[in-house]
Amino acid sequence: MMQFQYSRASDSAEAVSLAGGRPEVRFLGGGTNLVDLMRETIENPSSLVDVTGLSQQILTLQDGGILIGAAAKNTAVAADWNVRARFPMLARAILNGASGQIRNMATVAGNIMQRTRCYYFYDDASHCNKRAPGDGCDALEGFNRIHAILGASPACVATHPSDMCVALAALDAVVHLESANGRRVLNINELHRLPGDAPHIETELAPGELITAVEIPACSFAVNSTYRKVRDRASYAFALVSVAAALEVSDEGSIRDVRLALGGVAHKPWRARKAEAALRGAPATEAVFLAAADAELKDARGLRHNAFKIELAKRVIVACLGELRRSKVQGDANGHGSNGHGREGT
Ligand SMILES: Cc1cc2nc3c(=O)[nH]c(=O)nc-3n(C[C@H](O)[C@H](O)[C@H](O)COP(=O)(O)OP(=O)(O)OC[C@H]3O[C@@H](n4cnc5c(N)ncnc54)[C@H](O)[C@@H]3O)c2cc1C
Ligand code: SF4
Repeated sequence: MMQFQYSRASDSAEAVSLAGGRPEVRFLGGGTNLVDLMRETIENPSSLVDVTGLSQQILTLQDGGILIGAAAKNTAVAADWNVRARFPMLARAILNGASGQIRNMATVAGNIMQRTRCYYFYDDASHCNKRAPGDGCDALEGFNRIHAILGASPACVATHPSDMCVALAALDAVVHLESANGRRVLNINELHRLPGDAPHIETELAPGELITAVEIPACSFAVNSTYRKVRDRASYAFALVSVAAALEVSDEGSIRDVRLALGGVAHKPWRARKAEAALRGAPATEAVFLAAADAELKDARGLRHNAFKIELAKRVIVACLGELRRSKVQGDANGHGSNGHGREGT
């Protein structure tokens, strides 16, 4: 039996103080990932600080953005009318993750900080640099179907498992943090790290630094957005490849603006900036979508069992952008500017 201390914080200041900047302390959200890791003795914290008492509010900001408290449940965020109306890709991404029961427990902060689903990471009989730095990586020559094709290193080829974070990356979400050194904000695209030679360091958070909220800045064309996830089972499975996309097309048919991020392909949610650059200002045609997908995946490297993800990622990008282009055309024909996803919550 592993012994640990348990305490419950009523607000962020108390949580930070209880954690005391100690690396052996963990914040406890819904526990849907952390408790599993403790049962398997992959995580052995000396102390848990329960942060489910932090804000669960989902506030609409005056400029059209949304501020989500760190302890808001995944279910509540996906069901929020403003999230569904303004950022449909986010609601869809969350609903594509886990199961209803898990989403009822899981918090926004816990979702962001959840750890990889690499089989070898969960098996303490395997070699894993993330679990034990310098130990080696059994996934490199093992069964690596779910592993990374972008941004990986010889030390680690794991992927970040979150669906929600892929949408947050596309939306340039800003994460609010608090520690003994004060408060700061970090774009979600800078929060998670690529593995490099230190895959055990997964984020830019300091020990004991707390996520207090996630802010989604206003993005008018995100009303025309979607999330698509390809996986081995229809539900209750992590992404092989996923895509979060938003598209703004002018009346003349050129791409005014676009947001694109990929999941299941890298150690962090992968913002597809090369594809976005290739798309902005170009005609919204399938040939352009494909060229942009090619540009993004140019540096992708497949392993023995996952090379199929490279072509799959391209196809999902093209399919999502095609869907959003058609929605825009249908929206115009029906006399409104969006694809109608925005009315899901009504
Ligand atoms: C069977 C199963 C299937 C799943 N399928 C999917 C899926 O398809 N897609 C998907 O995206 N997810 C999936 N998940 C993962 C699930 O989304 C995560 O377990 C959940 O989001 C974690 O949230 P939590 O609040 O329970 O976090 P916890 O388990 O409590 O914590 C996770 C991590 O976050 C840290 N943490 C918690 N709160 C804070 C805070 N405020 N500040 C800083 N750090 C904090 C903890 O210390 C811990 O390291 C699945 C999980 C299970 C068990
Ligand atoms: S891919 Fe990363 S998490 Fe998986 S075994 Fe290798 S080092 Fe560990």
